[in-house]
Amino acid sequence: METFTILFVAALTASALVQLWLARRQQVYVSAHRRQVPDAFSERVGLEEHHKAADYTVVKTRFGMIQLIYGSALLLAWTLGGGLEWLDQLWRSFGFGPLSSGVGFMLCAMLIMGLLELPFDLYHTFVIEERFGFNRTTPGVFVTDLVKQTLLMVAIGAPMLAVALWIMGVSGGLWWLYVWLVWMVFTLVMFWAYPAVIAPLFNKFSPLENEALKARIQALLDKCGFRSKGIFVMDGSKRSGHGNAYFTGFGRNKRIVFFDTLVDGLEPEEIEAVLAHELGHFKLKHVQKRLLTTAGLSLAGLALLGWLAGQTWFYNGLGVSMPSDYMALMLFMMTAPVFTFFLHPLMARLSRKHEFEADAYAVAQSGGHDLVTALVKMYRENASTLTPDPLYSAFHDSHPPAAVRISHISGRLREASAGVTP
Ligand SMILES: [Zn+2]
Repeated sequence: METFTILFVAALTASALVQLWLARRQQVYVSAHRRQVPDAFSERVGLEEHHKAADYTVVKTRFGMIQLIYGSALLLAWTLGGGLEWLDQLWRSFGFGPLSSGVGFMLCAMLIMGLLELPFDLYHTFVIEERFGFNRTTPGVFVTDLVKQTLLMVAIGAPMLAVALWIMGVSGGLWWLYVWLVWMVFTLVMFWAYPAVIAPLFNKFSPLENEALKARIQALLDKCGFRSKGIFVMDGSKRSGHGNAYFTGFGRNKRIVFFDTLVDGLEPEEIEAVLAHELGHFKLKHVQKRLLTTAGLSLAGLALLGWLAGQTWFYNGLGVSMPSDYMALMLFMMTAPVFTFFLHPLMARLSRKHEFEADAYAVAQSGGHDLVTALVKMYRENASTLTPDPLYSAFHDSHPPAAVRISHISGRLREASAGVTP
């Protein structure tokens, strides 16, 4: 047996076991704190709502565990079980040129993967979300989404793959550097175009028009140098009762998006506070920082792939007999997450750091009290647990746990009222 096979199976087992262990911790911790609403929230979150959040978290975590085991088994079937080998032989037997069989093989593999994931998507939307009263997706919307996503994947993925494979074939030993450059241009274009071109294919976006807030919002935007045209309300209620707000894109296409489900539940001052938080992400250049981190990581990944693609053991060790550029890409995309899993806590930490910074910004610009009440409402309405397992949260959560986040904001507020400049 190839040494690399052993290494791969060991990494897959280790990451799966760690994830299962963390998920189990989360279930136990949340269940243990189910009985009572934490003191800090007892005035604004009812016991019944707290129970719902605990049950919802436990059910979702269990679902995640099953999905993880299924995904790991599938990955083994694709690689060591011969799935990719079989598909490769099939595409080779068609006798297309190297470029078209490469693109065909990869798209075909991705479509099959999508199909194999489908039962999980269906169960999540129509069983779990339904049971907790969040689902608004009709079967019609579900199917339309699926068709649109698949068409987009083919329309955008096929040319991108063709370009990458073409570069790999013609540009010699430094192909990974050129592919990286193309990938970066592609990422920037997608990031820029996504809010204006792709997101509207799935949702309606209308300008946030809140008369009660107009003047204050304008003052806030002027202070941050953000064009007011960029604030939108999205019809999130088309698919789900969950509410959220986010900041996306850059340049002329940057925008702050509120879900209609969130706007409906918030007071004007709370909307302003959430907006101030999102403007914090903009002002502190979090999108650019995240892009730079991704750029660095993908350069390292592609350099590694540049070396791996030339090693026969990389293919043989993962159940594939004939090396090719497209197979190197495919194997790398499928197996890299097994090895990079242990970077999760670092990425989550970076993201939480940005959340703290955006909160601090919001406190300085607008009412911090309103941010706290808005956050509590968001936790309550989304049935997010107020008591996650600290270790699980450190690994997985892009946002700090509710209690930690709110105590940070309160700390900032105390500093501000005591006249201490942070
Ligand atoms: Zn944020």
